[in-house]
Amino acid sequence: MYVSSVSQSEIRLTLEVTVDIANALSAGNLDPRRVLDEAGFSRAADASEASVQRVTSRMKDLLPLLHDLPSSDAEAITDRVNTELKRLPISPAVVDHDGIGPHIHWTPTSATFDDQVITDILMALAQELCDNGTDRFGSCDATDCDDLFYDGTRNRSKRFCSDPRCANRTHTADHRARLKEAT
Ligand SMILES: [Zn+2]
Ligand SMILES: [Zn+2]
Repeated sequence: MYVSSVSQSEIRLTLEVTVDIANALSAGNLDPRRVLDEAGFSRAADASEASVQRVTSRMKDLLPLLHDLPSSDAEAITDRVNTELKRLPISPAVVDHDGIGPHIHWTPTSATFDDQVITDILMALAQELCDNGTDRFGSCDATDCDDLFYDGTRNRSKRFCSDPRCANRTHTADHRARLKEAT
């Protein structure tokens, strides 16, 4: 039986956070410490301002890659992900802390906070490329919105980013268009 080295739900959560960070960065309203803290990065709360800023600047460097995901196949992205992975201090260990059960930490405790965050993101992306390719990445269908999303739904039905206004205004516009056709 094939056993994924990272649990599926953990990958999904990490990729959803990745997409949230990318969207907030593009919109210029990222509060990285809060986002990472809420995403369960336990070091986020106490991380130095400098290391939080390093996360932000390294995420900015990853933006072109992330934005290419919806329109690329896995093959086109793999080399770029591997190049990023080579730069990281990856040294996996099975750990069990805070009663959450055994799981893998990809970086040693001595790793900087930004190395830890970027490694978690790239390992989740690497696993995703193996499991689903780039199929679950999309960009928002709403007019005037290019935000990314990660589609974790079973039937891959997602069309819009996490901003509820995008789905709403598109549905309103669709509805108006149908009314117009009907008259
Ligand atoms: Zn842990
Ligand atoms: Zn949107």
